[in-house]
Amino acid sequence: MDKNTRICIIGGGPAGLSAGMYLEKKGYENYTILERNDRVGGKCWSPTYNGRRYEMGAIMGVPSYYAVHDVEEFCGITHDGPKLNRNYKNAQGQVIEPFEPKKNILKIPRLLKMKKQLKLFGELLETKYKGYDINGHRGVAEGRYDGFAVTPGREPVKGENPNLKDLALPFSEFCKKNGVELIQDIWIGPYTSFGYGYFDEIPAGYVVKYLDFQTTMNFVKINLWTWQNGTQFIWEQLNDHLKNHARLNSSIEKVERKDGKVYVTVNGAVEEYDKIIVTAPLHIPGTRTDGQKGMDEYFDVRDDERELFSKIDYERYDVLAVETKP
Ligand SMILES: Cc1cc2nc3c(=O)[nH]c(=O)nc-3n(C[C@H](O)[C@H](O)[C@H](O)COP(=O)(O)OP(=O)(O)OC[C@H]3O[C@@H](n4cnc5c(N)ncnc54)[C@H](O)[C@@H]3O)c2cc1C
Repeated sequence: MDKNTRICIIGGGPAGLSAGMYLEKKGYENYTILERNDRVGGKCWSPTYNGRRYEMGAIMGVPSYYAVHDVEEFCGITHDGPKLNRNYKNAQGQVIEPFEPKKNILKIPRLLKMKKQLKLFGELLETKYKGYDINGHRGVAEGRYDGFAVTPGREPVKGENPNLKDLALPFSEFCKKNGVELIQDIWIGPYTSFGYGYFDEIPAGYVVKYLDFQTTMNFVKINLWTWQNGTQFIWEQLNDHLKNHARLNSSIEKVERKDGKVYVTVNGAVEEYDKIIVTAPLHIPGTRTDGQKGMDEYFDVRDDERELFSKIDYERYDVLAVETKP
């Protein structure tokens, strides 16, 4: 692709800003990031209150978030926040160690079984489901993988693996099929309780895309990263370090693809681009009070695109902040 290709990126959240960074690193500097809000970061939102930043969206990362590491390197920052801790309590409020058989005498058989299944699951992902974690997840439904490795080098990889079709099963069925039902007790914490959906509904591919084995084990071992000034700080820094800063308060009224070009009507004026990358929601059911729209409402979407986007399922997830007396 010509290095002067004019690329429009919709959305100044982690995905849009990272797209700008990776383009810039490859020598494509003619990109424009359009952000509808008056701030960057998207769902990484760390508002300031009484001089301190609080998290109203993303909170933490793990060492296997290689793309975030790339951003840190690009900006010369690091995960300098407090170490997170976690404990589990039973219904009576006593602290328990759910994953430590020796400290949970009554549950020893179940916990030992769970530990065994966890080991088996790790092995299955590496062998039977080789290719399950390839970025992009292209071809999974046809039993192949084709994309970039999750390792820091992100080498391109491709191959055949008919077992990958199982990733289309709901995660609970996938676990049952492989005799590892108990591992759901571990995955449910950073998955369902974080608002990503229910294991009897969500395809296994979607679960392991985010919670690949490495990432899950980082959660289990509480090997977590945080940022002193909040997760939004990472993206503010990236925006500052990019050659082309995101254009805030960009209201996109229309996008038309015509004769190999893309025409974007933004804040009343038409802009011409060669390519477009969309990192904003593809479809939003109903009307949102903040005015955010799905891509299918302002784009010249084709029927097949509209049908595909309409399959996206949404869980309502509210974040509340309350002040308490010390
Ligand atoms: C409560 C909560 C907790 C989370 N915790 C974590 C965590 O601890 N660790 C973690 O790694 N992840 C966490 N996440 C997920 C993480 O925040 C998201 O994966 C990440 O923000 C997704 O980035 P994105 O760029 O794809 O989308 P977004 O962050 O949604 O960014 C999209 C951007 O596009 C903009 N936009 C939308 N429509 C338009 C339009 N029409 N025109 C122009 N711009 C538009 C939006 O304003 C936004 O800035 C959490 C999310 C939530 C909500």
